[in-house]
Amino acid sequence: MPDVPKTIGAAGALGVGATVRGTVALVERPEDAEIIVVNTCGFIGEAKKESIETIFEMASHKESGSCQKLVVAGCLSQRHPAELAAEMPEVDHFLGSSDMLGLRAVLSGKAERMLVGDPASWLIRSTDPRSVSTGKASAYVKIAEGCNRSCSFCVIPALRGKQRSRTADDIVREVEMLAQGGAFEINLVSQDTIAYGRDLPAGERSCDGSAFSTCTRRR
Ligand code: SF4
Repeated sequence: MPDVPKTIGAAGALGVGATVRGTVALVERPEDAEIIVVNTCGFIGEAKKESIETIFEMASHKESGSCQKLVVAGCLSQRHPAELAAEMPEVDHFLGSSDMLGLRAVLSGKAERMLVGDPASWLIRSTDPRSVSTGKASAYVKIAEGCNRSCSFCVIPALRGKQRSRTADDIVREVEMLAQGGAFEINLVSQDTIAYGRDLPAGERSCDGSAFSTCTRRR
């Protein structure tokens, strides 16, 4: 194994491996990790409670395990950055819901404590590094970020910004890479999937109708 930091993502690690592939060795047990990333949810009360409990549980590994850095990422730190920073001195870095690529700076040891940016300015691209945490055969692909609706119970538009769809070409590029890596099942996801492409010019939201079937034929 290369001499790289041992890292674990907790409480929903889907985006964590995506940003650090090749830079760290992922480990199964938090007590073995030198860097622990807690990917939080800030949507409803129960999810916030679970996220906070997980942060404190993981923080205990700074005392009893190998942990040297505790990182909190995701929607909870996007929603309450100042409060969390004040209440949790044991957390070394906070990343927002669109700041996964900031993990590189954290790993280099040159990051500021607060790395909470503007989610409205971010959209994943096929060129972003990614490792699939759901196993080889099946993968999620994010096709858009944000939401233009205003359901009264929902905080997602405030946390993720207005709808921004990826171009169909960029989605197909990612699907092709996943298929080449062994994926048989692709699940397209976003906050408001049926609104996909409404924010794009017509030429960017379709691939002449054949691109996805082309991916399938290549399997
Ligand atoms: S459509 Fe979904 S994500 Fe958008 S505001 Fe309503 S519940 Fe939230």
